[in-house]
Amino acid sequence: MQQRILVIGSSNTDMVVKANKLPAPGETVIGGVFLMNPGGKGANQAVAAARLGADVTFVAKVGNDIFGKQAIQGFRQDKIRTEFVFADPKNPSGVALIGVDERGENSIMVAPGANGHLRPHEVIQALEAVPEARLLLLQLEIPLETVIATIEQGANQGLNIILNPAPAQPLPDEIYAHLFAITPNETETKLLTGMTVEAHDLDSLREAAAWFLAKGLKNVIITLGAKGAFLYNSDGGQLIAAPPVTATDTTAAGDVFNGALVVALSENKSLTEAVTFACKAASISVTRMGAQASVPTRKEVDSLSL
Ligand code: ATP
Repeated sequence: MQQRILVIGSSNTDMVVKANKLPAPGETVIGGVFLMNPGGKGANQAVAAARLGADVTFVAKVGNDIFGKQAIQGFRQDKIRTEFVFADPKNPSGVALIGVDERGENSIMVAPGANGHLRPHEVIQALEAVPEARLLLLQLEIPLETVIATIEQGANQGLNIILNPAPAQPLPDEIYAHLFAITPNETETKLLTGMTVEAHDLDSLREAAAWFLAKGLKNVIITLGAKGAFLYNSDGGQLIAAPPVTATDTTAAGDVFNGALVVALSENKSLTEAVTFACKAASISVTRMGAQASVPTRKEVDSLSL
């Protein structure tokens, strides 16, 4: 039995330039390939989940402009339910300017536009309209007050809430007890816990993850780039390796990871199975350019062995 998934978050248009190196402040770098792609952490995660087979309702706000219209069209093509993708009459759709260097590292600047105007009452309205949903996935590219209201409403409705705390920003302690899982990368882990984690240092991972558990969280999943992810809960900690690949563009690796994670959870897989599935999906995505364009098919993920 598959559960319905709610994804609450941002939708942007990504403008990507690939270059040998990323520019330092004040520097101009002549790049190569230019791509314009639909993106935004919320949209990327919704698309990843839908393409990997989930029944997804996306809650977001776009501008009443060409970028917003194209985004909604794209969501519908991916069979995402869009009745709660609001069109803002006053603010433009969000855009992201992304640089990617030859090693696949990225640097991103976001102009949030309409994403910054997604209001708590709009999300609450959406959550109440989908009482059959069991899983809720959200990130931090919408206003923090909307994130907090979403988590409170989701908890009231008994949803399993997964927070991808990206981009990194401080969070109020009260939210943690409402979460089923948090999925920070190493940078986000450091910002939230104040602790530095290293993939080769299991003690550092355990210590940081325990910090979240002490705040009331049930499950912690720290993503570790090419090293995979560290899963921690009251049963203990476990490093789950990512399949070795040659990275071309790590843009949206975290988004594919989170989208895939909720798909597996919606299919009632165990957390270990879900993190393994997410590592496989994300590792395929880093071998391809773009954000949503890099999401693998279900068949590709299922046929990849670790
Ligand atoms: P991004 O900001 O680039 O979207 P992130 O910083 O949120 O990513 P990461 O921890 O870098 O998240 O990557 C998320 C997941 O993607 C990892 O847990 C891993 O499964 C996969 N991944 C990322 N980079 C690689 C890589 N070079 N090789 C294999 N898998 C990778």
